[in-house]
Amino acid sequence: MFDYLIVGAGFAGSVLAERLANGSGKSVLICDKRPHVGGNAYDFYNDAGILIHKYGPHIFHTNSRDVFDYLSQFTDWREYQHRVLASVDGMLVPIPINLDTINKLYGLSLNSHEVKDFFEKVREKRDTLRTSEDVVVNAVGRELYEKFFRGYTRKQWDLDPSELDASVTARVPTRTNRDSRYFTDHYQAMPKQGYTRMFERMLDSPRIKVLLNCDYREIVDEIEYGEMIYSGPVDAFFDYRYGKLPYRSLEFRHETHDVEWFQEAPVVNFPNEQAFTRITEFKYLTGQSHRKTSVVYEFPQAEGDPYYPIPRPENAELYGRYKTLADARSDVHFVGRLATYKYYNMDQIVAQALTVYGKLAGLKRKEASVVAMPARTSSKSLIYPISIGNGKGNSSPPEITSLDAVS
Ligand code: FAD
Ligand code: UDP
Repeated sequence: MFDYLIVGAGFAGSVLAERLANGSGKSVLICDKRPHVGGNAYDFYNDAGILIHKYGPHIFHTNSRDVFDYLSQFTDWREYQHRVLASVDGMLVPIPINLDTINKLYGLSLNSHEVKDFFEKVREKRDTLRTSEDVVVNAVGRELYEKFFRGYTRKQWDLDPSELDASVTARVPTRTNRDSRYFTDHYQAMPKQGYTRMFERMLDSPRIKVLLNCDYREIVDEIEYGEMIYSGPVDAFFDYRYGKLPYRSLEFRHETHDVEWFQEAPVVNFPNEQAFTRITEFKYLTGQSHRKTSVVYEFPQAEGDPYYPIPRPENAELYGRYKTLADARSDVHFVGRLATYKYYNMDQIVAQALTVYGKLAGLKRKEASVVAMPARTSSKSLIYPISIGNGKGNSSPPEITSLDAVS
């Protein structure tokens, strides 16, 4: 008998497993249909020995000290400020658009005041910023919108920016100074030994059993548990009763090149000509030294694993109907990007999971993230009934037992 069955071993599921086990002494079975923990943040050393992110680049950034301190219990950090260039008009220029972007693109030498006037002249003022188009044209005008945002957004979402909520392109600011960082959060860092190692430490407790290669539906009627935490897609949980909630997917093309460096920046965005949206070169993110280099191309697509909820009014309305069903299930707690249909970053999911834990444990939010029982133990709690994924996990495989051993 487990106190909790947790579906999904990404940030939502793993934070809750760790908190319930180490904060409240609960017994937890956490399962994931994938062959590894970490959800979309999973990383591993590829055949060349380079640490890569299987599901695209994951850069940790947050303004929340709580979230940063909480995760710091399971990882050391490597300071890292993310930078992105965009390939536009045959040039590589900084994105977010800043003073250098404008000067390079138009062959100018404006200062900060002059670039403010420049934006003031070209912008199309909108009274309300309802859509993703409104946000960009209101800030930088139509020409820059078309060069940097329209094509990228249509590729990524298969929708025109005018059909997407303002919040999507509002993630990318406009600057009049020379700050070329992609994020300006107070804490920006990468887990020093990788995300997977961090997750393994979170889940390393005698009260947590981990079951991989396992869809929860295969076991839900076989095991006894008190309550469920569900971090998969909310529409799938309810057998698509009201129809499918749209999610956007990606195909990742991983490549390793026999050169030390492949491109000029950690990420290069391709808003216009190519079918892919961006190329990431992992060594910039991880700080690894290696004579070869690994990159990933992202090709947006409709079918495949659901990666992005699509923020627009009709989807919010459909999600609202599923949320009503979810709220009526007092035995199941829906947490995470797919289960709450929110375009959330990792830190927001950690915060969401800590809040849910606080409610379950009757604690204030501040108290919820404090580890009350030893988190790092040497236990044999990880079980992998089929195999440990592709065998490329970045730590040695744990003991293999059968499902019978945990129920
Ligand atoms: P997930 O990581 O998706 O975990 C859910 C887990 O549930 C999955 O492992 C899935 O296999 C499992 N599951 C689903 N259904 C079942 C089932 N039926 N049975 C068993 N298991 C099931 N955030 C940042 O902060 N910075 C970034 O740079 C960043 N980059 C990103 C790049 C890409 C390409 C993508 C797609 C996302 C990025 N994110 C980034 C967002 C980040 O991935 C998410 O915020 C975070 O991983 C969400 O965690 P989660 O636990 O909610 O979901
Ligand atoms: N975007 C764009 N051009 C860019 C970068 C971003 O049009 O060069 C838009 C696009 O719609 C994208 C959104 O802004 O989906 C958010 O970008 P972000 O880099 O935050 O996307 P993520 O890393 O979540 O995929």
